[in-house]
Amino acid sequence: MKDIIVQKFGGTSVADIGKMKNVADVIIKEKENGNDVVVVVSAMGHTTDHLVKLAHEINPNPSERELDMLMSTGECVSMSLLTMALQAKGYKAVSYNAAQIGIITENVHTKARIVDIKTDRLRKSLEEGKIIVIAGFQGVTTDGEITTLGRGGSDTSAVAIASALGAKRCDIYTDVEGVYTTDPRVVPNASRLNEISYEEMLELAHAGANVLHPRSVETAKQYKMPLRVRSTFKYENKGTLILGVEDMEINKPVAGVAADLSQIRVVVCDIPDTPGEAAILFGSLAKENISVDMIIQSYARKSSNTNDIAFTINKEDLAKTQEVLFSVKDKLNAGDISFDDNIAKVSIIGAGMIDRPGIASTMFKTLADNGINIRMISTSEIKISCLINKEDAQKAVKALHEIFNLGCDEIAEVKGTLPDV
Ligand code: ADP
Ligand code: ASP
Ligand code: MG
Repeated sequence: MKDIIVQKFGGTSVADIGKMKNVADVIIKEKENGNDVVVVVSAMGHTTDHLVKLAHEINPNPSERELDMLMSTGECVSMSLLTMALQAKGYKAVSYNAAQIGIITENVHTKARIVDIKTDRLRKSLEEGKIIVIAGFQGVTTDGEITTLGRGGSDTSAVAIASALGAKRCDIYTDVEGVYTTDPRVVPNASRLNEISYEEMLELAHAGANVLHPRSVETAKQYKMPLRVRSTFKYENKGTLILGVEDMEINKPVAGVAADLSQIRVVVCDIPDTPGEAAILFGSLAKENISVDMIIQSYARKSSNTNDIAFTINKEDLAKTQEVLFSVKDKLNAGDISFDDNIAKVSIIGAGMIDRPGIASTMFKTLADNGINIRMISTSEIKISCLINKEDAQKAVKALHEIFNLGCDEIAEVKGTLPDV
């Protein structure tokens, strides 16, 4: 039996017809290596952004079901065009959307999790010698409803399909040559990492390094799927291999720096200092599938016997969060609720920071030396995050990258344009 290789191509890689033809050549090379090839493709260029903009122009608060119906069309366009490109080059190829295969997700719109992938149809097409091209980002519920996996979710489609098929490897092709110590668009002399552990990559992805969708890393870790990030435009380049921490030699305490500009800080003031209040607050957010990131509860004020709880959410969840909070405010007996979008989360990540004191203080001192005020702090074993003002984000990333000595002498080559924030 042949090995199966899953290849995923992102939006910049298939932005126009010329690039699509180039991608077809990359796929054909892998097929000619003697492998079975399954391709997962994203929408062309900034198509998804454009579709979301159209939705908000016609309705400021579009329903999530219709958003999914609309957004999922972007990937359908690219899967069929790419299949036609392969057929034009004389190869047998077939495209499938998620419903045709059975990429089953939870019954949640705009950020559904995959629960099962049927492989019968895929195996049959592979037996027929076909290259398969699948629409990324989308899924279907057991009731036949179309869902999407969250922005950037085609990476997760690819890893989940690779795991379901028992593929040999999953290659994520993108517009940079791999995973870098930070976003090479922000710090041009960022260094490409030859390898990084699943754990560090997961933290980097959660911290805002959108080169990989966090759930794709989670899935790869769970199924021990070898994952490689590499350039569509420099096929010969090896890229970055993501693998288990036990297989790695760790030398630097900090592996990477990331900034997330998509968060909003929420503060709920004067919550009575009694058991159960936090459970009501976060339970009602969880019921609506709103993920919360940093959480800080202040010391209880003796005079009023109340405290404040601050936390961050993704800006896409703002309207839903406001609705939930205003409906539980009375039950909580809380005071004012405020929302601040002028924030950024900067993080340093590294498995090598375990048991190395001084890393956190170096981070705080570097931010202070650059006149940057820290508004919230959170840590995990291998990550330290600080919430700062949005306008300081780039300065902070550059300063932290420099102090932890992460740069190199080369300038990274980056295709495409900076994503909108
Ligand atoms: P695709 O369309 O291929 O999915 P994305 O735009 O989602 O591509 O992800 C690639 C982009 O991620 C790069 O162009 C780069 O600007 C950004 N990025 C952010 N952090 C990093 C990092 N640490 N390493 C590499 N790229 C990064
Ligand atoms: N097209 C979707 C997005 O722009 C999914 C993806 O590209 O991974 O978010
Ligand atoms: Mg992406």
